[in-house]
Amino acid sequence: MPACTTNPHALAGVIARLNAPDYDRWAAQIRATGGCRQPIHLRGKVEHYDRGTGRLLHCYTTRNEPDGILRLPCKTRRASRCPACAEIYRADTYHLIRAGLIGGKGVPESVTAHPTLFVTLTAPSFGTVHSRCEKNGKVSPCHARRDAETCPHGRVMSCTAKHCLDDPHLGEPLCPDCYDYTGSVLFNALAPLLWKRFADSLRRRLAKLGGLTLKDLREHLTVSFAKVAEYQRRGVVHFHAVIRLDGPGGPAAPPPSWATADALTHAVRHAAHVVSALVPAIDDQPARLLKRGTQFDIRPITLNGDLTEQAVARYIAKYATKAAECVGTLDRRINPLDNLDAFNLREHPKRVIAECLRLATIEDLAELRLANWAHMLGFRGHFSTRSRHYSTTLGALRAAREHHARDHEITTGRLPLFEEDTILVISEWTYAGKGYSVGDQIIAAAIAGTRIRDMAGGAR
Ligand SMILES: [Zn+2]
Ligand SMILES: [Zn+2]
Ligand SMILES: [Zn+2]
Repeated sequence: MPACTTNPHALAGVIARLNAPDYDRWAAQIRATGGCRQPIHLRGKVEHYDRGTGRLLHCYTTRNEPDGILRLPCKTRRASRCPACAEIYRADTYHLIRAGLIGGKGVPESVTAHPTLFVTLTAPSFGTVHSRCEKNGKVSPCHARRDAETCPHGRVMSCTAKHCLDDPHLGEPLCPDCYDYTGSVLFNALAPLLWKRFADSLRRRLAKLGGLTLKDLREHLTVSFAKVAEYQRRGVVHFHAVIRLDGPGGPAAPPPSWATADALTHAVRHAAHVVSALVPAIDDQPARLLKRGTQFDIRPITLNGDLTEQAVARYIAKYATKAAECVGTLDRRINPLDNLDAFNLREHPKRVIAECLRLATIEDLAELRLANWAHMLGFRGHFSTRSRHYSTTLGALRAAREHHARDHEITTGRLPLFEEDTILVISEWTYAGKGYSVGDQIIAAAIAGTRIRDMAGGAR
């Protein structure tokens, strides 16, 4: 018996599934999804024809599958939606970040000699928040101030607590009424633009250092990067990036001799300082210039130094599977008509979301589409991106895995083995839903060897 349940509806579902004549095939489908929490249901067929004679050689249809559907993994990158698929995404991201640092997967090993930095671009302050500072294993008080000021709302701007790692107050403002929610939302919304301007400015500075025009730079140098967005506890996005200098066309060629790690460090510092984005005046607030935080961290990545390539790859891959839900917001879009009080959110994320919805009604900010991205606290960029020449792609890693799976299916007799160029393949697929019924969820959890709680939560 897979698991205990007191829900009679679920129990009936479990019994019906276990007794179904096609249970073995259903279980095989579930195993093939690798423990996916919300498998995609497809209906359709694949037909193989002989190009020469037009003869139908083989036909696969989901009509003969359990419930007439094929279940495939959802392939989400988000751990909050499907831990099993996010784990595959994390592992793939790790391998492709690592290949860009030490070679492999089509990247030559000589890439280790290219200047490479790990850069963290922070966000500015929008007000004092509860934080945890640990030095040599000792936690210091949050904001201990002997002559602490009292803010206009009557709150003393001091906190002597030594917050533990999972303290829900971490990242929350000492005074929510003083906190600049407008700035925090606008910064998240403009973070992708700030990154683009940073990358442009970096290239311009490097061109200048090499005595070249920006147009000529690509004949000598390629700036390759892989970046990931991370939400800080206060709900503001910052970026971690691997930035590498290659020769023209990518990692196969060395960068010119003037393009050293020092030159790259200088150019990164310069770009991080000068880049800004202008926000128009809104309501009673004047126009403002948003800039990156003054703190930024630039560290060289070496094979045996403080910051190894494994540590960097692990770090980036970890954040690639996370999104804003880690700071207590919702994992789905919010309708401006929704009652935010009904979501049981903490006050801080609720106020950020409310500010997104308020700013969304201002015409000058319409293009930021803040209502659509309120659940992301205003950020609408990609979480994990790489420039074209960084290393291999997630698509290539996936294709290699699917090719392997196809070989397995051929050797186990499910797919016919034909010469590909003599065959015409026609396939038709339609989406038929996703997830599990409650009964199926219990059996799927038992098959995947996880707790039912880990399987639950996927949309149906
Ligand atoms: Zn999944
Ligand atoms: Zn505190
Ligand atoms: Zn205040």
